[in-house]
Amino acid sequence: MLVVMRPNATPTEINRVVEAIKAQGLTPHPLPGATRTAVGMTGNTLAVDKGLFEVLPGVEEAIRVTKPFKLASREMKTDDTVVRTKFGDIGPGTFTIVAGPCSVENLDVTLRTAEYLMSRGVRWLRAGAFKPRTSPYSFQGMGVDGLKILAQVREKTGIGIVTELMDTEHAAAVEEYSDVIQIGTRNMQNFSLLKRVGQCRKPVLLKRGMSATLEEWLMSAEYILAGGNYDVILCERGVRTFSDHSRNTLDLSVIPPAKVLTHLPIVVDPSHGTGKRAYVPAMALAGMAAGADGVMIEIHPDPDKALSDSAQTISFTTMDGILDKLKAMAPVFGRTL
Ligand code: PEP
Ligand code: MN
Repeated sequence: MLVVMRPNATPTEINRVVEAIKAQGLTPHPLPGATRTAVGMTGNTLAVDKGLFEVLPGVEEAIRVTKPFKLASREMKTDDTVVRTKFGDIGPGTFTIVAGPCSVENLDVTLRTAEYLMSRGVRWLRAGAFKPRTSPYSFQGMGVDGLKILAQVREKTGIGIVTELMDTEHAAAVEEYSDVIQIGTRNMQNFSLLKRVGQCRKPVLLKRGMSATLEEWLMSAEYILAGGNYDVILCERGVRTFSDHSRNTLDLSVIPPAKVLTHLPIVVDPSHGTGKRAYVPAMALAGMAAGADGVMIEIHPDPDKALSDSAQTISFTTMDGILDKLKAMAPVFGRTL
C-alpha cells in the first residue's frame, strides 16, 4: 500500500504516517516526489485497512499497489529514480557510460584503461575482481587484491568503480572498495545475496538473469529496495534464445515495457549481450535509441590478450567511435553526456 500525502503536508504529518505504519508491524518507505511525498509500506502478508491511514492529517489517499513488486513499481513512485553519485547522476536526462576490462588483470591494464576513459570524459570504470566463470579451470579473478588495484586506480585518476559481488562472504570488502556493486546474471535470484546488498550503502547494478522475465527481474530489484537500499540500476545483458549467431540475445525490447512498469534506471550491456566485438558498437547505439539510461561496455588496451571475454572486448579506438556517435545522438534523445 502507498499513502499519498497532500502537497502541503508537513514533516510532522509525514512522520505520523511513518509511525502509524510501524505500529502495524510494517516497514515504512518515505518516497519524496517533485510535488508531494508518498509513504510506501512493505511487510504485510494480508490486506491492510486503508482507513487506518486515510484518517491521519495531511493524507490525501491510501492506494493499494496491485503489482507483485511494490517499491520498484511506477504505481508506488511515478517519478523516475535518478541515482546520485559523486561521479555523476544515473537516470533519465543523462546517459551514463561504464567501460573497462571484463576482469581486473593487473595494475597496468586497469590504470591505462581508466586514464583513457577519463581522457574521454567517461567517469566509470568496470572490472571484476571476483569472476563467475563457467569453467572452474578459467581465470577466476584476483579477489581482494583486485579490489585493491581498483581502489588504487580510483585514487590516481578519480574514476568511479563498478565491480561484481558474487557471494555474501565478500560483501563487506566489495562495499568498501566499490562505488557501485554489480550483481551478475547468475546471481539475479540469489536471494540471500540480494538481501545482503539491500543492507549496503552503495548503489547496486542488477543484471538481468539470462532467462529471467521482466517481472522476475523487478522482483529481484524489490528484494534490494525492501532492504532499504533504494539506489538500484537495472542492466539488460542479453537472454538465452535459440539464436546462435550471438552469445546471447540483447533484449532491447525489454526497455520500453520496463520503463512503464518501473521508475528505476536501466543500462544496456552490448558486450555480454552479443558476445562478439564486431556487434558491440551497433547495439550500444541502439541502447540509447531504445531508451536506456546508459551502457556498460568491455574494453581493453589489447583486446586479444584479455584474460576473460576477449571475443566481445573492444579496443580504445572502437570505443572512441562509439563515444563520438553517442555524443552526436544524445541531443536527439534528450540526453546529456
Ligand atoms: C561481467 O560483467 O563481466 C559479467 C560476468 O556479466 P554477466 O553477469 O552479465 O555475465
Ligand atoms: Mn565479462
